[in-house]
Amino acid sequence: MSDKFMDINKLREDFPILKEKINNYNLVYFDNAATSQKPNQVLDAMLEFYTKYNSNIHRSANAFGEKATIAFEQARVTIAKFINAEPEEIIFTSGTTESINFVAFTWALDNLKPADEIVISELEHHSNMVPWQQVAIKTGAKIKLIPVGLDWELDLSNLDDIITKNTKIVAITGASNVLGTHVDLKPIVKRAKQVGAKVLVDAAQSVSHKKIDVKAIDCDFMAFSGHKMLAPTGVGILFIKKDLQDQVKPYQFGGGMVFEVDYDKASWLKNRQKYEAGTQPIAQAIGFGAAIDYFNNKIDMEQMAKHEANLCKRAIDGLQAIGGIKILGPIDRLKKTGHLVSFVVEGIHSHDVAAYLSDFGICIRAGHNCAQPLAKKIGIDAAVRVSFYFYNTEDEVDYFLSKMGEIRNNF
Ligand code: PLP
Repeated sequence: MSDKFMDINKLREDFPILKEKINNYNLVYFDNAATSQKPNQVLDAMLEFYTKYNSNIHRSANAFGEKATIAFEQARVTIAKFINAEPEEIIFTSGTTESINFVAFTWALDNLKPADEIVISELEHHSNMVPWQQVAIKTGAKIKLIPVGLDWELDLSNLDDIITKNTKIVAITGASNVLGTHVDLKPIVKRAKQVGAKVLVDAAQSVSHKKIDVKAIDCDFMAFSGHKMLAPTGVGILFIKKDLQDQVKPYQFGGGMVFEVDYDKASWLKNRQKYEAGTQPIAQAIGFGAAIDYFNNKIDMEQMAKHEANLCKRAIDGLQAIGGIKILGPIDRLKKTGHLVSFVVEGIHSHDVAAYLSDFGICIRAGHNCAQPLAKKIGIDAAVRVSFYFYNTEDEVDYFLSKMGEIRNNF
C-alpha cells in the first residue's frame, strides 16, 4: 500500500461532470463498467494538444509535429509502464473490441485450421466471443468453453480436458462485466502454456480496477480500452508480447506502417511499427497517457479496490434488506473484491428500474450487458447493473437504495 491518501471528495473535484444534475437531482453515476468519467487532467491534456500543438505525428518535420510525436510516444511509455510491458509491446487501437478483432483476424486466421481449438469462458463479453466465432467459421476450428459453476465462479475442475494439445488460443476475460468477479488467470495460463497455446486476456474490466502485470500473468496478448479508465473513447491498447511480433502480421495497411511502396507491392516496418496504419488517435492517446498519470499521481489501486468493494457491500446489504431482489454473483466475494453489482428485481423489468432511477439522477445499466449467452445460462433476459469507481460515495449508494426501496413499494 502506498502512502497516497485518497480523499474521495477531493478527487471528485477533478471530475466536472459529477457536478451535473438530471431533472434537478444531483448526478449519481453508477455506470462505470460501461464507461468512466474523465478528470480535468485528461480533458486539459487533450485541449492543450488541440489548442497549442495540434499536428499529425511521425511525419511532419515541424515544431508541432515533433511535439505531438513526443507526447504520443510518451503516452505509450506511460501505459507500458503501468502494466509492466515494454513500449514496443503497446499498440494503439480504437479499444478492446478492435484489439481482440486484431488478434482474431491476423494471428488466429493465419494459424488455426480444422480440428484446432479456441478456448473461451462462459463469462465472456460479446467482444471476446463473436470474433472467435468468426475465426471458427473461417478456419473450421472449434470453440470450447470454460463453464461457470453453480457458485458463479469459473469451474476449472476439467481444465485439462478443455485446454488440450489441440488448443491454439485461450481468450479469457480478466473480470466479468456482468458478475464483477475477477478471474484467477494463473491456472488457466499455466495449462495453456503446458500445451503450447497462446493466451489473450480481455482486460477491459480488470486493468481499470486492479494492478496488472503482463509479465507476471505471462499472457501473449492483452486488450483494454481507455474509456473505462478515465481516458477518452476511441483509444485502446493491444499488448503483443515482443517475441511474438514476428508471427503476427499487420491488421491494417496504409500510411505510417510501410517501409517501401511500389505500384504493385509494398513492404512494412518492423516490429510494433508495422501495426499502426494511418493517422492514429493522437489526442485520445495523449488523454490516455494523462489518465495513467492521474492513476500514478493520485490513486492507490489497493485503496481504490477496497473502497469499491465497500460500496458493493453496502449496496448488496441494502438490496437484500429491501427484499425481492436477486443478486447475481458470489455475494461474499463481491463484498470483498467487487466493483459492480448485478441484480434482478422480482416482477419488475430492469429497463423500468433504469428509467425510474434515471428520473432521479441515477445512471445505471440495464439489459443483457453484452453477454447474452451468460444471461440465458443464468435464466434471465436482462439485469440491472450498478458499477462503481473510486469517485463514488457511500451517500450515493444510500440514495440509490432509497430509490430502490421506492421502486419495490410503488410498482
Ligand atoms: N470486454 C469486456 C469485459 C467489456 O466489459 C467490454 C465493454 O464493456 C468490452 C470487452 C468491449 O470494450 P469496448 O466497447 O471498449 O471495445
